[in-house]
Amino acid sequence: MSEKKNKKKPKAVILGGSIAGVSCAHALILAGWDIVVLEKSNAPPKGSPTGAGLGIDPLAQQIIQSWLPQPELLQEATLPLTIDQNIVTGGDKSTRILTRDENFNFGAAHWADLHSLLYDALPPEIFLWGHVYLSFCISEDQTSVNVKAKSLQTNEIIEINGDLLIAADGCLSSIRRTFLPDIKLRYSGYCAWRGVLDFSGTESSETIIGIRRLYPDLGNCLYFHLDSGTHSVLYELPKKKLNWIWYVHQPEPEVKGNSVTMKVSSDMINNMYQEAEKVWLPELVQVMKETEEPFLNFIYDCDPLEQIFWGNVVLIGDAAHPTTPHGLRSTNMSILDAAVLGKCLQKWGLENLPSALEEYQSVRVPVISQQVLHSRRLGRIKQGLYLPDRGPFDPNTASPEDGEELQQKNMPFFSGAPISAD
Ligand SMILES: Cc1cc2nc3c(=O)[nH]c(=O)nc-3n(C[C@H](O)[C@H](O)[C@H](O)COP(=O)(O)OP(=O)(O)OC[C@H]3O[C@@H](n4cnc5c(N)ncnc54)[C@H](O)[C@@H]3O)c2cc1C
Repeated sequence: MSEKKNKKKPKAVILGGSIAGVSCAHALILAGWDIVVLEKSNAPPKGSPTGAGLGIDPLAQQIIQSWLPQPELLQEATLPLTIDQNIVTGGDKSTRILTRDENFNFGAAHWADLHSLLYDALPPEIFLWGHVYLSFCISEDQTSVNVKAKSLQTNEIIEINGDLLIAADGCLSSIRRTFLPDIKLRYSGYCAWRGVLDFSGTESSETIIGIRRLYPDLGNCLYFHLDSGTHSVLYELPKKKLNWIWYVHQPEPEVKGNSVTMKVSSDMINNMYQEAEKVWLPELVQVMKETEEPFLNFIYDCDPLEQIFWGNVVLIGDAAHPTTPHGLRSTNMSILDAAVLGKCLQKWGLENLPSALEEYQSVRVPVISQQVLHSRRLGRIKQGLYLPDRGPFDPNTASPEDGEELQQKNMPFFSGAPISAD
């Protein structure tokens, strides 16, 4: 017993303090590990200017609640998304419901609220904000890893030793590039205009009354609106916010490599309004027009990876599976990655680290591979793009049976993915 007491805790260095990084910190602390999180942002993101909406599935909600000292806070940070609905606009601008699934059962949250909820429940001293990762080096006996990072404030180079390096550094992961230099992200052929309209204080405005008339289940529904070769998404977030996304075809941007989000000029925004007027109903266009600072995401994913760990370096979150957003997967996959990794490390202990990482990989790779490919397919159908095994989807002529294919419930492992190999 005393031997157990004196045993040094294993230590992990997590690169990236976004959703995957903070989730992983929770899971590993529960598994009895010491943690250091390196993050290049200067401070924890606070408030809603950072990010937009995301949907959390029932299993991820359960996992998040298991990490929080006050699990009920997750309920306060989410609105229900019980319904998954696809709508088509006719030529005369009338609308028709193509599919409606009332058992969707997700929750809608603002990215910043979910991040704060997870971050606030962690010891702040484990975070090194304002530190950019430089390099890592695995010891000859493969039992430890040395990570170098630079403080953006002082330019000081620091070195941290750990038993495990966890790359939670997002879809453009530098650590993934070290092991897989030839892996390229795949541009989907389209980008997404996104925005969050804050309507606190304007609940009775014509815009809000109009949008609620058109989409009466807002506050409980994930709305997809389909037109030829394009689609939009609308759902409500807590604290009187509306989250919208509009997918438009666009050539691959020239500036790439550092970000998949682009700052946009007012000319680009005005042009977007004009194009929106040609496609969407005036109520939705008005929501877009009243949204402060809409932004543009270029949509990339990556062919599924077969390997997500090398020695004592492991990928989680978007670093392990860049994906398109059509199946509301990236956040949910990140949370599940973290939970599975934590369980495997707890089960096998540091002395069997290779077995723990092997199990993590064997549990997660089949799930994430299918989910990434299904999200890709869903996006291509909704954007009217070519698929080898079906004709192009045209919402105007689509039957309810065609629409069935678009439902979120068709996502592989929709009703839950395994947490362990047992
Ligand atoms: C600020 C922000 C806002 C977002 N908002 C939304 C949203 O509204 N809706 C949505 O669906 N998704 C959003 N995302 C993406 C979402 O978090 C991810 O798709 C998903 O949750 C997986 O998260 P991740 O932690 O794996 O990756 P990411 O969220 O991309 O996080 C990667 C983290 O690694 C850090 N990092 C990368 N390279 C380095 C380096 N060299 N040194 C130090 N740190 C590094 C980044 O700063 C970042 O914090 C947002 C991401 C960020 C960073």
